[in-house]
Amino acid sequence: MARRISMKNPIVEIDGDEMTRVLWALVKEKLILPRVDLKTEYYDLGLANRDATADSVSAESARAIQRLGVGVKCATITANAARQTEYKLQALYPSPNATIRAILDGTVFRKPISVSCIKPSIASWTKPIVIGRHAYGDIYKAAEMRIPGPGKVELVYTGANGAEQRVLVADMKSSGIAQGMHNLDDSIRSFARSCFLYAIGEKLPVWFATKDTISKTYDGRFKELFAEIYETEFKEKCAAAGVQYFYTLIDDAVARTVKGDGGFLWACKNYDGDVMSDMVASAAGSLAMMTSVLVSPSGAVEYEAAHGTVQQHYYRWQKGEKTSTNPVALIFAWTGALAKRAELDSLPDLAAFARNLEKAALAAIEAGEMTADLARLAVPAPPRPLDSWEFIDAVAARL
Ligand code: NAP
Ligand code: MG
Repeated sequence: MARRISMKNPIVEIDGDEMTRVLWALVKEKLILPRVDLKTEYYDLGLANRDATADSVSAESARAIQRLGVGVKCATITANAARQTEYKLQALYPSPNATIRAILDGTVFRKPISVSCIKPSIASWTKPIVIGRHAYGDIYKAAEMRIPGPGKVELVYTGANGAEQRVLVADMKSSGIAQGMHNLDDSIRSFARSCFLYAIGEKLPVWFATKDTISKTYDGRFKELFAEIYETEFKEKCAAAGVQYFYTLIDDAVARTVKGDGGFLWACKNYDGDVMSDMVASAAGSLAMMTSVLVSPSGAVEYEAAHGTVQQHYYRWQKGEKTSTNPVALIFAWTGALAKRAELDSLPDLAAFARNLEKAALAAIEAGEMTADLARLAVPAPPRPLDSWEFIDAVAARL
């Protein structure tokens, strides 16, 4: 066997649950370990180990990413009442992704993986549209009220020194509803930094859009802080990388997106990102063809698949079935992390390996070797869908 590619610094490897845990081991064994002398710092975030460590392992894995700069994560179960019974959990632990995101103060970017045999629902989209969602505040942390009848609704701010500021929301003539939401300057700045860092890495133009013509103070502040971070920290770096920053109104951004050919990073406020990422994902075809990367304003990154643990496939696998679960997003999580490690440590062989593995996966699909989720969408349809094991072998054969 040819000599394996060596690494300098390790990647933080975060293992997970169910079907993705099964595929995780398989991808490593068949596609990575034969070629790469893999160095990882391993954290087991499978639900059993999170329970055994009272979930301290989740925070430890995030701190390891902060320290080492690059992580790759398998999908994990977010515990709920049903999972508590199923796994006899001591407690309902928070979502590991939320724990990791909070520690890294990061933004999640989702990017579809395109193949020529699957056309996006919007025919003009020839290049991927990446959505960066600001995952803090706005309606997701809002206070809401049913207003029983006529009366005044006010926003009241009481400063730490006791000083008060008030504005009238409405002098209500009848019953109705009211809402108060907030965001933090520092969170918006971190969001802007993560967006510019990601865009420079991927050489993509950045679009940011709000409704600042209507919401002059709230959305106006988003616009102002984005511009401030661009002007003071990223203008020259963007120019050097050929990355443009473009601000527009949210309705204009939507119109341009639908008519355009893609190929940009869309920085979205929390709600816009929630909605637009579902639009982009469904237009792209399959959740299993979507990667996700968490970028911290410090520059640390964590790669993962956008999908979950594919629970129903796992139960069928436990009964002995070779399921046709698509491992492409998991493969791309690994190649993303390896390529980033290669860039940071100046390892051209490792960078080339990551690119070639991606090419091998796409070439297999384009030659008609694919899992069932894609076989349903592909034109021309393949002779038969492959199971996950056959598909991974097909990729390995092309490497
Ligand atoms: P899911 O695991 O993404 O699966 C939803 C459905 O999408 C599956 O039933 C399957 O459809 C299809 N699918 C997703 N990934 C696929 C793949 N790689 N290949 C083929 N089909 C795929 O979402 P979920 O069922 O809502 O959640 C399951 C568990 O994952 C939950 O415990 C949740 O907490 C967790 N989760 C984790 C993350 C994360 O760690 N990032 C994200 C989301 C959810 P068919 O059944 O029709 O084949
Ligand atoms: Mg959504």
